[in-house]
Amino acid sequence: MKCELISVGTEILLGDIVNTNAQYLARRLADNGISVMFQHTVGDNEQRLLDTLDLAFEKSDMVITTGGLGPTPDDLTKEVCAGYFGIPLVEDKKSLSKIKDYFKSKKLTMPSSNRKQALMPKDSIILENKNGTAPGCIMEKDGKIIIVLPGPPGEMKPMFEDGVVPYIKKFSDGVIKSHNIRTFGIGESAMAQKVGDLLDMSNPTVAPYAKSAEALLRVTAKAGSEEEAEALLKPVVEEIQNRLDGYVYGIDSESIEEATVELLKQKGLIVATAESCTAGLVSKRLTDISGSSAVFTCGVTAYANEIKEKVLGVRKEHLQKYGAVSEVVAAEMAIGAVRLSGADAAVSVTGIAGPLSDSTEKPVGLVYLALSDGKKVKVTELHLRQSGDSCREYNRTASASNAINLLRLFALSYPEMPGGSTDAEEYISNF
Ligand code: ATP
Ligand code: MG
Repeated sequence: MKCELISVGTEILLGDIVNTNAQYLARRLADNGISVMFQHTVGDNEQRLLDTLDLAFEKSDMVITTGGLGPTPDDLTKEVCAGYFGIPLVEDKKSLSKIKDYFKSKKLTMPSSNRKQALMPKDSIILENKNGTAPGCIMEKDGKIIIVLPGPPGEMKPMFEDGVVPYIKKFSDGVIKSHNIRTFGIGESAMAQKVGDLLDMSNPTVAPYAKSAEALLRVTAKAGSEEEAEALLKPVVEEIQNRLDGYVYGIDSESIEEATVELLKQKGLIVATAESCTAGLVSKRLTDISGSSAVFTCGVTAYANEIKEKVLGVRKEHLQKYGAVSEVVAAEMAIGAVRLSGADAAVSVTGIAGPLSDSTEKPVGLVYLALSDGKKVKVTELHLRQSGDSCREYNRTASASNAINLLRLFALSYPEMPGGSTDAEEYISNF
């Protein structure tokens, strides 16, 4: 079954909002074996919506609209779509009482304009809205289908999953399933070299993607059923994991912080952070993950040298001699954070995010990270972007990702410290 998406909303055309609904639907329709041929965006305008419906039904049999189901006069999607099929609107008692209940549960009086949301195309399949007032619907006419969904993603997604996915199963051309193999520490081209021969396969397909400081491989299979698709994916995912051993941090993980928090939890480890140039980004990203309180104890943002000294115990003479962006300061920050917090390990970040350098000769993009368990320490030097509009943002994000990866490697090799670490006291006294 061929399908087209129509995103209704003048604010999308104006660039005021990003059309995430289209992205979501395109992906989920593909997962369910429905081919999306075209995506359209149209303003809240009756004639242009009618023209777009004409255009879509020239090539496809199913149209899914989002947006324009609200109570105000500019919300006209349902009316226009029903009119397009010549279907009258009738008041749906069940929808009306649900809308009334919705307002009652929020202790609000229902505005009379909301009554219009209970007017539904006659004989349509009504899609309940568990998160708002506007029901959606599915209309069928002469083998053509229009599915009307609300605009707010928090309403649209559950309605699609609960009401539309079961409905479209019968039109599926098969199932498309993907796994994302997420890697850290290997560049896109180095990764492509290791798995280059797999990139020419046809089912499953393997495609590389770069994402700030990370690279991922998406393996996608098309088959008659989910089980068959999984059977095609499994050996290829395993083969890639073997070839990229050490770099893969997760299959279908959302992010390196999610994978790291999960691993720390499994090992029962607690960590802390000491951040200068990322000013809390590492601790923010770790604590974005639900349940992170089990593994994260404290984050020190030590921007000024005085705080590096006072809170983390970085030696004044080291700051004066080597500067804040130096190996030894990174090491002392991490050791100081373990001492302060009693955590199993801490990671530190100090660097020059740019676009301007500090008052020294050091280049923009120079970053030192250190990992310490209090007894040993391991320092990593990064050379990130030296210039460009987004270098500050990139350098901070990449530094934070690398720091999080150090914590992940710590958890992986625990109770050993990751390779290359040295005795903390010895390290510091060598400066
Ligand atoms: P409402 O009852 O809120 O008016 P609606 O179904 O009429 O809902 P719209 O008025 O078109 O939907 O959009 C309401 C809000 O939903 C938008 O301001 C926007 O935040 C979000 N939204 C709408 N369309 C999209 C889209 N395509 N992608 C992401 N968000 C969207
Ligand atoms: Mg609206």
